[in-house]
Amino acid sequence: MSRCFNFSAGPAMLPVEVLERAQQEMLDWNGSGMSVMEMSHRGKEFMSIAEKAEADLRELLGIPGDYAVLFLQGGASAQFAMVPMNLLRGKTKADYINTGAWSKKAIAEAKHYCEVNVAASSEAQNFTTIPPFETWKLQKDAAYLHYTPNETIGGVEFHWVPDAGDVPLVVDMSSTILSRPIDVTKFACIYAGAQKNIGPAGLTIVIVRKDLLGQTVKGTPTILDYQQHAENDSMLNTPPTYAWYLSGLVFEWLKAKGGLAGMAEINKRKAQKLYAAIDQSSFYHNPVDPVCRSWMNVPFTLANAELDKPFLEQAAKRGLKTLKGHRSVGGMRASIYNAMPEAGIDTLIEFMREFEKEHA
Ligand SMILES: *Cc1c(COP(=O)(O)O)cnc(C)c1O
Repeated sequence: MSRCFNFSAGPAMLPVEVLERAQQEMLDWNGSGMSVMEMSHRGKEFMSIAEKAEADLRELLGIPGDYAVLFLQGGASAQFAMVPMNLLRGKTKADYINTGAWSKKAIAEAKHYCEVNVAASSEAQNFTTIPPFETWKLQKDAAYLHYTPNETIGGVEFHWVPDAGDVPLVVDMSSTILSRPIDVTKFACIYAGAQKNIGPAGLTIVIVRKDLLGQTVKGTPTILDYQQHAENDSMLNTPPTYAWYLSGLVFEWLKAKGGLAGMAEINKRKAQKLYAAIDQSSFYHNPVDPVCRSWMNVPFTLANAELDKPFLEQAAKRGLKTLKGHRSVGGMRASIYNAMPEAGIDTLIEFMREFEKEHA
């Protein structure tokens, strides 16, 4: 068996230790005589798995007791609608910051439910930067302020948290959650699809302040109501049990790695190495403002786009896979989430240098 370095933006690499543990437990979980996939979600075995996963996530992120942690389905995309449905709370306006492709999708969906004020946008800069906070046109009576801390496609990341005063802060953390410690109390609602930095696809995590719940938009289906999920321990219907279990194994792996402070150090080092290699060369280029470069998604172009194809082919032969950039940006994108080993970055940089020597 040989495992490659998979730079996919999502579904993305999982830690090999986690996959090995899942393999060991596949046929018979903990003497139960069944796979986690075959268990009743209401049985005591799965309940223990679910509770441990939530407790570990709360410990890793330091989530206070007045926040609900929900294990949902529908991806981050479902949250683009569930956020306004649940958090407008009788108000008619919400503020959104537009920093890229995912912000735009969240904005488009919110427009079905409320008056969206795009308080700042970097579209004119082709989403290569974040508008300075002083220029944001925030509304005091907004139901919430929504932004995307890491734009997975553009490779733009907030390395700071805006101060929205009393307006609840709502964030799509799909591609940066668990990459570093955060102060959860600064946010009213954090949501993330699992398939980037948490676990397998099919699970969406929502962390939301309980005092905001129970005031849904009229007509909100029960299955889209945060409060209903919170009151039913995310077991309002059958949850994505296997994805929940596997995410729990990732949380245990993170704890063993020194928690999020430990991960932050590694992630920062990984990203800095790769950006330094790009910046030192005139053959590779990253267009993002250095102060908001993502630790998780590193887009870069080659001096000559005709070399993209041979670059990808030769990289794949070295076990460096899924480096093709998003079609809207072109070039390459290296997604380097928690599970990407540092050796993956070192191998990529070595390959980039060789390829440049050959073709520059
Ligand atoms: C991947 C991604 C999404 C979409 O997630 P789905 O789970 O596929 O709906 C939304 N926002 C961000 C920031 C993403 O990276």
